Amino acid sequence: MNPVDPSMINDQDPLVLVVDDCEFVHRLLHARLRSESIRIESLLHGTEAVEHAIRSVPALILLDLNMPEMDGFEILRRLKDEPKTIHIPVIVLSGQDSAEDKVTAFDLGAVDFISKPFDMTELRARIRVALRMQALLQMLAQRAQIDGLTGLCNRASFDARWQQEHERASRSGSSLSLAMFDLDEFKSINDTYGHPAGDAVLVGLAQLINKTVRVSDVACRYGGEEFAIIFPETSPSEANAICERLRVACEQIIWPKHPGRAVTLSIGIAGTNCAQGLPGAQWIETADRNLYAAKRAGRNRIVMTDLGTGNLRVAS
Ligand code: GH3
Ligand code: MG
Ligand code: MG
Repeated sequence: MNPVDPSMINDQDPLVLVVDDCEFVHRLLHARLRSESIRIESLLHGTEAVEHAIRSVPALILLDLNMPEMDGFEILRRLKDEPKTIHIPVIVLSGQDSAEDKVTAFDLGAVDFISKPFDMTELRARIRVALRMQALLQMLAQRAQIDGLTGLCNRASFDARWQQEHERASRSGSSLSLAMFDLDEFKSINDTYGHPAGDAVLVGLAQLINKTVRVSDVACRYGGEEFAIIFPETSPSEANAICERLRVACEQIIWPKHPGRAVTLSIGIAGTNCAQGLPGAQWIETADRNLYAAKRAGRNRIVMTDLGTGNLRVAS
């Protein structure tokens, strides 16, 4: 077998995991798939396949059915039972050509079934189709989490991320803070300068938030002119400092469509230095209550609660 020129392998190329107990199949696939823009990893033992797939999350798995220790059906079952591998497409390669095997493989979640000996041109084409479908599904899944106007996470994605971050912080007892924002008197921007001007403010604020928060923070459009930021591993006073920078930067923006009219933010924060024992709803309810307290206190300000001590801070 000719060695693969490492300079031809691109880290961005999709990873294809081949699970087959026959070394010849591995050699054949490595040699004949070299022209494809893919990276290949090979496993001879089915027993390692699921763990390996959890670690490397390949874009596609080529799976032999007939293997001594664990057969392809069992591997397929396990891959589809595991949240980290459930979405990885699997093409079954089989020495058998029975309709029964095909039906079982498809019912277990395989995307394709190819009988051995396979025609390499056809196999290459089927691999390309499976990878194209996978890329498309990934793109759709990503888009489903993004707010179309601002490009921030949308509400559904906020709910999922909040649950994740809250669970993580509860388990480890780390700090966790949440900020809820609402644009002040935003309806009057729409009413005075038109909805496109209002949209430009929402987009501009999203850009400012992206510039200000850290990569580990999660910025979301919570609803119409309301935003939320999850601050993992962040005390309420640190979150307060970041939000104060945002508040000041927002009021200083000169908006091209209404240079004489500033836009301000009211912000409610809830956070703690130790998230253990507190329900996730407590952050959301407290941050929301603080946001409306900030509105009532005159807008363009932050109200923050330390959930650990119960201390409330109102700043203008
Ligand atoms: P407050 O300071 O009390 O928050 O006053 P407000 O005017 O900001 O609040 P209100 O709830 O009365 O108005 C919110 C406005 O946000 C009304 C709605 O039309 C506007 N809005 C919501 N989503 C969008 C959007 O996507 N684009 C635009 N341009 N406006 C939006
Ligand atoms: Mg509102
Ligand atoms: Mg508002």
